[in-house]
Amino acid sequence: GSDALLAHQARRESQARTYPRHLPIAPAEGSGSFVRDVDGNVFIDFLGGAGVLSLGHNHPELVQSVVRQLDTLTHGLDFPTPAKDAFTEAQLSMLPPRLRERTKVHFCGPTGANAVEAALKLCKIATGRGDIVSFHGGFHGSTHAAMAVSGLVSQKAPVRDGMPGVHFFPYCSSACPAGPAPGSCARDCAGYLERALRDDLGGIPLPAAVILEMVQGEGGVVVARTEFVRRVREVTRSLGIPMIVDEVQTGCGRTGTWFAFEQYGIEPDVIVASKALSGMGLPVALILYDAALDTWEPGAHIGTFRGNQLAFVAGAEAVRIVRRDDVLANVRRRGVQVADRLGELIGNPWVREVRGRGLMWGIELANPGDGRPATALAGEVQTYALRHGLIVERGGRQDAVVRILPPLNVTADVVDTACSILVEAVSACAS
Ligand code: PMP
Repeated sequence: GSDALLAHQARRESQARTYPRHLPIAPAEGSGSFVRDVDGNVFIDFLGGAGVLSLGHNHPELVQSVVRQLDTLTHGLDFPTPAKDAFTEAQLSMLPPRLRERTKVHFCGPTGANAVEAALKLCKIATGRGDIVSFHGGFHGSTHAAMAVSGLVSQKAPVRDGMPGVHFFPYCSSACPAGPAPGSCARDCAGYLERALRDDLGGIPLPAAVILEMVQGEGGVVVARTEFVRRVREVTRSLGIPMIVDEVQTGCGRTGTWFAFEQYGIEPDVIVASKALSGMGLPVALILYDAALDTWEPGAHIGTFRGNQLAFVAGAEAVRIVRRDDVLANVRRRGVQVADRLGELIGNPWVREVRGRGLMWGIELANPGDGRPATALAGEVQTYALRHGLIVERGGRQDAVVRILPPLNVTADVVDTACSILVEAVSACAS
């Protein structure tokens, strides 16, 4: 049973394992929005493999495409193959037309972090510069450079910084730690970045790139303000600094458009994508970038696992299904439903904010007395939800944001049930 497996694995596996500590389950099989554990308990899975299961568990058409490919070719290094070609075309077809024309794709090792590494190297080589600008609260991965450019500090402290020359700036959102500033904010964080970049004597060296998420996922579903993102784009463009948008979590439809940057009316120079590319959790990662940056040498960013044919066929099929079933419209509709249902929590003194885009939502919990992150309470809410059949994620600076990443094709009924459990969990625990 679950308990025996959890105990056995805890003896065998590293101290650094995370999920089973907060979510003590042993999954046996998945189907759509549901997962069944080895004891036969069924849960609504709104963790979604940390955002990779965009079409839910074991989507039958994705499974079929993979089964067919299994008999044909599974691994292809970086050779051109029919599966890769179809996948590449499918990905490019989802870009805004103006961008598509000048976009190149590089397949990276299988994780988001690996694609972030590739993006940073690409920009360093293309600009001949070394420094990187990043933002408070961001998360880009666990490898050394990806960790170094992450504003979330918890992982970094024990291994020092990993890479010199990273400059962090404030990220403008409703969740700003300096407190709410409605309307046009007097703190002007984009202006602060611009002054630092333009000040030759007292500022920072001109960086090789600026990297940011449109919605900080691990940072606690922190949605960047539109004006802020637009100003960052204007400043970086006028100074010739490539802008990398990390869409590892927000990409592939999660926020209601294929990429989140589309909602900001900007065009990045580099897009990083991974998690949901295959629609079903097969590892694949890539960067999409302006052909003008394509000055690196053959072999500049290599890796054994850049040719997962199974992920390619599933990914091409996922794009076809997203189009055919108008999954993005479902994301937007279900997103409004989530906003509406979780909105019931506004007014609870422990709920600091309910926020999100599309099907990426967070409930930030804070102590009403001193305003500090209510980490323990968030843990209780997560446990309560699990006991009532719903798996949810946590995030944010102190893990005090309860997060959901449902499948993008989730039904209204499942959303309704899950939101009822969440609302009840918060109401029961925060009283
Ligand atoms: N960037 C973002 C925005 C992420 O959310 C993550 C993973 N949570 C990563 C990068 C790293 O991806 P991976 O875990 O696949 O290395």
